[in-house]
Amino acid sequence: MQTEAWVHRDKDSPPQLERITLGAPAPNEVVVRIAAVGVCHTDLFAPVVFGLPAVFGHEGAGVVQRVGNAVTKVVPGDRVVLTFGSCGQCPACMGSSPAYCTDSHHLQFGGTREDGTVTMGSDQGAVAGSFFQQSSFARHALATERNVVKIPDDFPFDLAAPLGCGIQTGAGTVLNALQPRRGESLVVFGAGAVGLVAVMAARIAGCNPLIAVDVLPERLALAAELGATEVLNAASDDVVARIVELTGGGARYTIECAGAVQSFESAIAATHRRGICALLTVPKLGQPFPFAPMPILQGRTLTGVIEGNSIPDQFIPRLIELQRSGQLPYERLLSRYSFADLPMALADATAHRAIKPVVLID
Ligand SMILES: [Zn+2]
Ligand SMILES: [Zn+2]
Repeated sequence: MQTEAWVHRDKDSPPQLERITLGAPAPNEVVVRIAAVGVCHTDLFAPVVFGLPAVFGHEGAGVVQRVGNAVTKVVPGDRVVLTFGSCGQCPACMGSSPAYCTDSHHLQFGGTREDGTVTMGSDQGAVAGSFFQQSSFARHALATERNVVKIPDDFPFDLAAPLGCGIQTGAGTVLNALQPRRGESLVVFGAGAVGLVAVMAARIAGCNPLIAVDVLPERLALAAELGATEVLNAASDDVVARIVELTGGGARYTIECAGAVQSFESAIAATHRRGICALLTVPKLGQPFPFAPMPILQGRTLTGVIEGNSIPDQFIPRLIELQRSGQLPYERLLSRYSFADLPMALADATAHRAIKPVVLID
């Protein structure tokens, strides 16, 4: 079929809106007419790291339009949110940890289906698609049955879209991965969308003190409104000393989602000796940098968390209930854009003018 998508052709330039061809759904695939798509941090650095031309976007939500002949989970007309891809057959997938699927890197970033076949093309040649098995900066996306989750008829698409990555990452890190007990201390480094949702989730869990660290005063003010008991500005406060003081020796849990070396080092240093420091992203796009291992030897645990350890079919419905009950007010983080303004949504996210842009497609 023919559709329209934002195609990145040059890593230093905004994407261009182009006519593209989307392949017919394979037996396990669904075609989704995208109604809204969030902008997540991975979309911002993807053009620098992955092969171009490509269509990015991995927080789509919309209406199922067509299904492959083996699909049983959804039917045309169902409203769905799109999430990350997973194979369904490896030990991680079979063990209820799809975010750690053996084939995950290829499924999110390979530009093709799991079997290596391409899903997109334009009159200028092949275009890498299947980003997170969706490439949803487009009017239509090809997803797999495994990475679509049905949503209630009355849940708006603009709220649904970011559940597929950013919201489940922030909330799941606290509620699924760390599972703090009431009264335990937790610090979030980086008050972007993921970090602010982690603050909301830590408030649900009853963490105290609940500390947010950032360099932008307006984001720290928002973190305080959303449940942080203390906020620290890394540009002016002695963050590690203050956390040690506020927690009586170091935090039980720290979450690093700022993606800066300084923040990485502070998060480890501010963790209590038997505490856990969870990394949700990496500085320097994952390239090596000097790191002193002594704090780990001293009993601290450094771990990575992907997609909040979410089992999307179970966790996304739970997040919808938490949002509806007012406990997870992530709607406060959203800025809405028209489809034509998608490049502006990317630019605003990059410049920290928007916390969680959501692009609406009519
Ligand atoms: Zn797998
Ligand atoms: Zn993401």
